[in-house]
Amino acid sequence: MEKYFYTVAELSRALAEKKVSAVELAREYLGRIEAKNSALNCFLDVRPEETLKQAELADKRIAEGTAGRLTGIPIAHKDIFVTREWASTAASRMLEGYMSPFDAAVVAKLKAAGMVTLGKLNCDEFAMGSANENSAYGKVLNPWDANAVPGGSSGGSSSCVAAGLAPIATATDTGGSIREPASFTGVTGVKPTYGRPSRLGMIAFASSLDTAGLMAHTVEDIAWVLGDMVGFEPWDSTSENLPAEDFTRDLDKGVKDMKIGVPRKWFQQGLDPEVAASIEAVIDEYRRQGAQIVEIELPTVELGVPVYYVVACAEASSNLSRFDGVRYGHRAAEYDDIQDMIKKSRNEGFGAEPKRRILIGTYVLSHGYYDAYYLKAQKVRRLITEEFDRAFQNVDAIISPVTAGTAYDFGAKSDPVSAYLGDLYTVPMSLAGLPCMSMPCGVHSNGRPIGVQLTCARFEEAKMLGIAAAWQRATDWHLRHPNGL
Ligand code: GLN
Repeated sequence: MEKYFYTVAELSRALAEKKVSAVELAREYLGRIEAKNSALNCFLDVRPEETLKQAELADKRIAEGTAGRLTGIPIAHKDIFVTREWASTAASRMLEGYMSPFDAAVVAKLKAAGMVTLGKLNCDEFAMGSANENSAYGKVLNPWDANAVPGGSSGGSSSCVAAGLAPIATATDTGGSIREPASFTGVTGVKPTYGRPSRLGMIAFASSLDTAGLMAHTVEDIAWVLGDMVGFEPWDSTSENLPAEDFTRDLDKGVKDMKIGVPRKWFQQGLDPEVAASIEAVIDEYRRQGAQIVEIELPTVELGVPVYYVVACAEASSNLSRFDGVRYGHRAAEYDDIQDMIKKSRNEGFGAEPKRRILIGTYVLSHGYYDAYYLKAQKVRRLITEEFDRAFQNVDAIISPVTAGTAYDFGAKSDPVSAYLGDLYTVPMSLAGLPCMSMPCGVHSNGRPIGVQLTCARFEEAKMLGIAAAWQRATDWHLRHPNGL
């Protein structure tokens, strides 16, 4: 291959022009994974023979003239999506070696489009975390700096795209797990509206928040793949039944006369000055391109973190109750009776973070505390949602930081509360179910990438991707790569 980093759009053209075959492409990326994964630890399961089978099928479709524009493009999946041919573990001992009898809806749809699976990506256990330090299978390194976390929970996705081990990867975002790792590794990450991609076959963490999405180098690549990834699933009661959409339709539209809201009061405090300057540069560029910048206030979003951790832990405690050693998952080898079996299996299978969240969740749902915590959190969640809805009556999009600083060092946020507080800029959008994204907008003097967050009203992904494309046409931050790659 002539260069190291390729976009999905470039690979699609190369396949269409027969400059490369799907099998050659799969071999190229499998070779990179073989060479680099032992250091980065992005992949939990790689099965070259399965990848090559899919690539051969893609080449057949290309030869027959039945290929689509994604046929033959390699993709890697976060190990939260179940897959038939690769083990599905949610990065937990609880599901070590688990083989699913079916593919997650998102995986099945991308497979049907002809995309070729490279393997399964490491993440925080059950997607709980912000640094990928909570995986039962070891931490993932950030290719920009081996001391820096790659972000979490989708750290395998962010690191693998940033290191060129896949041109695009799936990820999931419950409270920031696409946007934060994307920003920590200099890639583009999109979380669509809750309910737009199906959750069928996504190992559940917090069901009212979990949303599938993508990470890639450009917003154009994500717009291409998103269209094939979303769609109604009758077996998923939270899946939205909407007509198919072309998410690329606004990519060339520009931002002239658009109104972009900036909630400065919310995010000014505690923001790293270089991150703040990079975000101001994005705002200035949109103004230069003809957008109207509007100062907005979102006072309720400040309650996002406590509300999120009550709701998410409550739902997690309920979702993780299915891992009882009876139906599936880890079962202790020795036990006295069924109670003892369940206790030992859960104790051995879950790591510290899921256990902590099960305890918090069980507490806030218990008799006497339910009204004080869970119900109260649900009410504030509604207020946050309404606050965003009101804001979107006046603006097309909101700009805000993804995090207060760049990727931090491993171990820097080892106490859970400081890790939870780091989610302050990402959880409010999740509580409101909004489409949002992170895109690269700078590199800090510490050598680590900076991202900026865009948010739009529910189901306005196409508009959001168009606004992002206007930035990526004017700048090349998204095309910067780690040193030596
Ligand atoms: N960091 C948040 C948490 O730990 C978000 C995780 C996610 O989005 N999956 O819950």
